[in-house]
Amino acid sequence: MSPLPSDGVFRHAGGMQIRVVTIFPNFFDSCLGEGLLGKAAGKGLVRIEAVDLRAYTDDKHRTVDDEPFGGGAGMVMKVDVWDRAIAAARAALPGARVILLSPQGETLCEDVARRLAREKALVFCCGRYEGVDERVSAHLVDQELSIGDYVLTGGEAAALTAIDAIARKLPGVVGRSESVDTDTFTAGLKYPQYTRPATYKGWKAPAVLLGGDHRKIAQWRAEQAAKRTGERRPDLLGRVLAGRTRLALVDPPKALAALAQQAVTAYGLRELAVCVTDADQRAQWREKAQAPQRIYGPLANARRRWKDNRFVHLAAQAGPGQAAPGEIARQLVDETGEITLTWGLSPVPGGLVAAPVIEAQPSEIIGLFAWLARFFGRG
Ligand code: SAM
Repeated sequence: MSPLPSDGVFRHAGGMQIRVVTIFPNFFDSCLGEGLLGKAAGKGLVRIEAVDLRAYTDDKHRTVDDEPFGGGAGMVMKVDVWDRAIAAARAALPGARVILLSPQGETLCEDVARRLAREKALVFCCGRYEGVDERVSAHLVDQELSIGDYVLTGGEAAALTAIDAIARKLPGVVGRSESVDTDTFTAGLKYPQYTRPATYKGWKAPAVLLGGDHRKIAQWRAEQAAKRTGERRPDLLGRVLAGRTRLALVDPPKALAALAQQAVTAYGLRELAVCVTDADQRAQWREKAQAPQRIYGPLANARRRWKDNRFVHLAAQAGPGQAAPGEIARQLVDETGEITLTWGLSPVPGGLVAAPVIEAQPSEIIGLFAWLARFFGRG
């Protein structure tokens, strides 16, 4: 039995308030009453109401659509009806963010869901037919939201998807908060999961998960998550790693992984953006790297080296009275928009001083190199 009362309104105080305006309010009955969403509503963590758009019509046929100006197929939802419905929603939920579901809107993703979960109240406006009069998005709503690059018959399924993703982020909705924090898309894809039996039809769960060593398990999970993100969704790495610096990778992944790992450990880095060079360029850089031009000195030297060679090796330590290499690297990056790391492990122990401007999580680095390994055909 659905906990949605017949008027489609959950009557729980507190929590996030959500109103969905739709010509099909019953659409939401069972789905919003089931599972975690139903429980969340039951606990008052979220209050969701489905309101009939036709309540805001002013003719006896309760008309919500009309023919498009200029002709063409299908019907368009009327601006005046939406205006009244949205005004009523804003009055009922002061300060609410009003969202029109539309395939042309901002695409829903984890970050967007997290952002929207911070709102006190949300109003979802569900289009139907050929869509909604443009003046609704231009003048009446705060944003348009899409759930992906495909066209649905109506905004209801999109609203439901968005509500589910958003409600999951509300404190208390998902029992243990870490199950949200380690979800896919928080930082790439989630690690693979197993449960009993340990062996099924000869298919074994990984031994490390059965061993009880939590440090090893955490490490295995981080590596697996990063590896599969690199293999399956390198685009996510790109998004996570998008940063100010372009790191030109000039060596096979293994050595660079060690190099990057060193940088990460040394500098507690967070983000990294990558430019993969072609084989010729890599060969050239490798050649140069065999006789690295160390720049201990002033920025001007580094700048000149960069201009002449597109390659600068910055040593780990500044010489007496010289600028910190990290500072030089930062300036170079600002000026050029890119920087090249030396090939392989630095000849100077701990000597990757481009690092302060390159930030990455260790797991992201691992994922990055899983992707690179595939890119270079070594995966
Ligand atoms: N003719 C419109 C177009 O080409 O952009 C599509 C209209 S669609 C058939 C009807 C309604 O479904 C839209 O107004 C919107 O509310 C909803 N809708 C369809 N696809 C959607 C998506 N990917 N994300 C969010 N809402 C969507």
